[in-house]
Amino acid sequence: MTEPRRILHADVVIAGSGPGGATMARELSRKGKTVILCEAGKYQTRFGYSPFLLSMLDGFGLTFSKEGTWVMRPKTAGGASVVYCGTAVRPPAWLKDRYGIDLSEEVDELYEEIPIQPLPDSRIGPATRQIMRAAQDMGLDWKPIDKWIRADKCRQNCGLCALGCPTGAKWTAREFIEEARRNGMELLLRTKVDRVLTENGKAVGVRARDPRGWIDIHADTVILSAGGQGTPPILQRSGIHDAGQGFFCDPLCFVAAPIDGQGSFFDVPMSAGVNLVDDGIMMTDQGLPPLMYTSLLGLNGPRGWVSLPKVLKYKKTLSIMIKVRDGLNGRINKDESFSKPLDNDTWWKLNKGAALAEEILTKAGADRNGLVKTSVVASHPGGTVRIGELLDKNCQTQIRNCYCMDTTIIPEPWGLPPTVTVVAMAKRLAKHLTVAAEAKVAAKGAA
Ligand SMILES: Cc1cc2nc3c(=O)[nH]c(=O)nc-3n(C[C@H](O)[C@H](O)[C@H](O)COP(=O)(O)OP(=O)(O)OC[C@H]3O[C@@H](n4cnc5c(N)ncnc54)[C@H](O)[C@@H]3O)c2cc1C
Repeated sequence: MTEPRRILHADVVIAGSGPGGATMARELSRKGKTVILCEAGKYQTRFGYSPFLLSMLDGFGLTFSKEGTWVMRPKTAGGASVVYCGTAVRPPAWLKDRYGIDLSEEVDELYEEIPIQPLPDSRIGPATRQIMRAAQDMGLDWKPIDKWIRADKCRQNCGLCALGCPTGAKWTAREFIEEARRNGMELLLRTKVDRVLTENGKAVGVRARDPRGWIDIHADTVILSAGGQGTPPILQRSGIHDAGQGFFCDPLCFVAAPIDGQGSFFDVPMSAGVNLVDDGIMMTDQGLPPLMYTSLLGLNGPRGWVSLPKVLKYKKTLSIMIKVRDGLNGRINKDESFSKPLDNDTWWKLNKGAALAEEILTKAGADRNGLVKTSVVASHPGGTVRIGELLDKNCQTQIRNCYCMDTTIIPEPWGLPPTVTVVAMAKRLAKHLTVAAEAKVAAKGAA
């Protein structure tokens, strides 16, 4: 290996500053650990417009599988949480039932400290209400959803959550990054972790690259939090070749139609919805910013191009998002390219959700002749380094002292907003590492 330009030392080194990495940094720096957090992206601060959003996405958003499946990959300090919709869903019961992982304590802690809760009536916009009423009239359990949003800071008729919240109402992982920095953590931006450094099967740090060359960061504990698509290539380059075999991405599409009145674009996205657990379909209100709307129609081929003029009416459009639980097929490669075919079952779910959404929108008063269904995009890649296969219950890899903590760890197909689970899992791992370190010190003292 080439000689590094710089060598740094810390107790803990973390790759990736999304919700998983930022939580690890915050929790461990609170306990007095010296932490270095490496983030491949920059720390962009201009929010609220689509061009700024593109600058926070890997490849300006153009990240497609070899089969053409569009999987978005945010690359910025704070990871995907900077552009997420701030929807919170508690971990499913099967995580405890099938894997013995009980996150109730950590989830309760989190709900209290952010705080996470549904929006009050005053922040639920008119389009969201219109959709909710129609869905409820059809007998669906469509209701307000928990949000990582502080209602007192949230601006009425803003709807810019997914373009980076301009008021700071939405929690993002940057809040934990900043807290960790105040605790002494060092944040290295534009620093991409390449591989884990090992000695006798044990992690001793990472090799990373910044714009000026290679850096070795020596540490007793290595945490890989580079996201569903970022962590597997690091493990593959470190000798764990099975990482990245199979993953879910929770594909989604939108059904939209014009109305006579204010559309979904101005409301907090995903304020209310329904989770059809048995079908693996989640549906919510969600407005479409014009650039996203154009791209999703454009990718529909000639059928979508005919509908493109409808984008001009985006401010007067009701829209519903349909997100589904897909299978664990596909692969992430060492060079970060990926394969993700969507199987028949996934298309069946998307079509079933879309048909239901058409009915809801029509009942809500939208123009039936103006209905459009967009092409598919995915934004939750995960399950690439699964607990029970490549990780033990504490998320340790076969390289001792090297842990994964991001959406990669999720052991089964998912279909839900994953951030609560990732942050709660990170809190759990931080507790485990703290207890293990204290036990080691006590044992040394006794000897
Ligand atoms: C548009 C959109 C809307 C979403 N809405 C919701 C929602 O409402 N609710 C919800 O729960 N979830 C939502 N999600 C998903 C959620 O944001 C992610 O699942 C969550 O952020 C995953 O956290 P993570 O810790 O796995 O890492 P990520 O957020 O994926 O962050 C990983 C970080 O690692 C960095 N990185 C990658 N490779 C390297 C490397 N080699 N070295 C150093 N750094 C590296 C990346 O730049 C990135 O910053 C949404 C996602 C998108 C894109």
